[in-house]
Amino acid sequence: MKPTLPGLHHVTAITGHAQKNHDFYTETLGLRMVKLTVNFDDPSSYHLYYGDASGSPGTIMTFFASENSYPGRIGAGQATVTSFAVPIGSLSYWKNRLESSGFPVKQLEVWGKTRLEFQDPDGLRLALVEEGEGERDIRGFAGVTLAQSNPAASHALLTETLGFQLEENTAERKFYRSQTSWLELASDPGAPGRMGSGTVHHIAWRTPDDANQALWLETLESQGYRVSPIMDRNYFHSIYFREPGGVLFEIATDPPGFTVDQPLEELGKKLVLPAWLEPSREKIQRFLPKLTLPVATK
Ligand code: ZN
Repeated sequence: MKPTLPGLHHVTAITGHAQKNHDFYTETLGLRMVKLTVNFDDPSSYHLYYGDASGSPGTIMTFFASENSYPGRIGAGQATVTSFAVPIGSLSYWKNRLESSGFPVKQLEVWGKTRLEFQDPDGLRLALVEEGEGERDIRGFAGVTLAQSNPAASHALLTETLGFQLEENTAERKFYRSQTSWLELASDPGAPGRMGSGTVHHIAWRTPDDANQALWLETLESQGYRVSPIMDRNYFHSIYFREPGGVLFEIATDPPGFTVDQPLEELGKKLVLPAWLEPSREKIQRFLPKLTLPVATK
């Protein structure tokens, strides 16, 4: 059996302001907070998850939120732009909505399509493109742009191992597609990026179940990649490895999902901790910055 990798599962970035971040992603972009928890590897900072109403894989933008994080620099070896899909015909609505909320947009033509680029409150680069039907709401991720220092090696990983198809190819950029997402490689990366607030920490690709993930682990290791052991992230099981251009990739299972520890209607309404951190709840909450959540989330 060949393991499958349909497209993006989540994108994780860093913010220095949990409240501003929350307000932007829920109010301005209209996403739902689907989990409020802490970084399992550093419980002194929040891990905020936003997505569609049911927290579907492929719609999940997450943030490590730490007031102590220094501003990063977007550059080579990083995911530089995260693009969301909005329904066909809705871009002018989004342009007005972002601009009237104080977020200037840049309108670009890329691969024959209009792309609205803007920045979140930390300076993280985001874009909206029209893909698919619907009213106005963000439909989930469209794709990601990576700035690469080693595009030839990344190309081999994407096409030969991960199953992406190369669709467009110029000297500066390559455009790949998987079943549900696209990936763009910019081969003119400029200065190296530096991790910090306003930068992407890692990109997670989805896989349907644990059996597929075990096969990915085996496949990647047999090709010489240094892959992490399988980690239990409560809402999915994950492996991590660095692709040849320097971007941290994760492969995350679709199950069990965000309703594993909260009913659907309660998602994101209060701080949830994994069982092993529950005994330290009081101490953890004392050190986390205050975060005001709206009475009713969308
Ligand atoms: Zn992740």
